[in-house]
Amino acid sequence: YQAKRDRTGVEVYESKRDSNTPDRLGLLGDLRRALDAGDVELHYQPKVRFDGQVAGLEALVRWVHPERGKVPPDEFIAIAESSGLMPHLTEYVLETALAQVARWRARGLRVPVAVNVSPRDVHTPGFAGSVAARLARHGVPAGSLQLEITEHVLLEDPQRAADTLAGLTGHGVKMSLDDFGTGYSSLVHLRRLPVSELKIDRSFVARLAVDTEDAEIVRCTIDLAHSLGLVVVAEGVEDDETWERLRDLGCDAVQGWLVAAAMPPEEATAWLLARGSRGWQRPKAALPAAL
Ligand code: C2E
Ligand code: MG
Ligand code: MG
Ligand code: MG
Repeated sequence: YQAKRDRTGVEVYESKRDSNTPDRLGLLGDLRRALDAGDVELHYQPKVRFDGQVAGLEALVRWVHPERGKVPPDEFIAIAESSGLMPHLTEYVLETALAQVARWRARGLRVPVAVNVSPRDVHTPGFAGSVAARLARHGVPAGSLQLEITEHVLLEDPQRAADTLAGLTGHGVKMSLDDFGTGYSSLVHLRRLPVSELKIDRSFVARLAVDTEDAEIVRCTIDLAHSLGLVVVAEGVEDDETWERLRDLGCDAVQGWLVAAAMPPEEATAWLLARGSRGWQRPKAALPAAL
């Protein structure tokens, strides 16, 4: 395998995504064992509204391989998806996230958590019922769970996907449409999917402040989503200027390194406690030094 070092000096695993090399098979076995051993973690990234209120936290899976270092989620999720391990990974993530929500609730922190689910999950028979049973077991109200899906759920057997999603929303689980703009972004999909939130993909948000075409795409997406009654979240907001543009365009909430990167559970707890009821405040611009 190839390894490079990331900014923190930790090795990051990289491999070709499209072949079942012995390397991929090795990783698959390692991932299965890591899940069984509880060695896979969730980090949590806040979604905040423009008034600073915390709208929720997104759970993002993290795996540090004992020899290879951090393996990026995109990498091992592709492996899990193509191997049949995905349902197991999703159960693990849901279980871990709901246990965390229950702990936060016990401390008075009533913040919804979003979990990413893959198209595979939505096509797994009984998925909606198993989510409902898990919520009940943790004593977490369905409204505290959001599931992030992509348009890919409609690629194969759209009727079954629609039934599963209807089952989930029927139980009170909120659905969010992730990575909007990167798939087919079809209006038919938007109408068919029972989502209450739309997340604009980072690829459009990143250059919003400098690229007028990206800015137009974001503006149209926000207007379209609002006309359908959806809440709009922008992903990957890294600087003040982008934050201001999004606020001016009427976007509802942002996620990104400007606010916080995904944090391990203890750090996320501290972050939530520190914000209290005041919510997140944008750091003030530094005062000129020579005054
Ligand atoms: P996503 O759901 O669209 O998550 C957003 C990704 O953008 C995350 O990458 C997050 O760490 C990153 N990000 C957030 N803010 C910024 C920013 O300001 N700048 C930049 N450059 N990046 C930012 P991550 O954690 O590597 O996850 C990648 C993808 O892997 C996710 O995209 C999601 O599709 C998938 N994923 C992550 N966790 C899970 C999971 O538990 N289950 C499933 N099925 N998929 C997951
Ligand atoms: Mg997501
Ligand atoms: Mg996304
Ligand atoms: Mg993504």
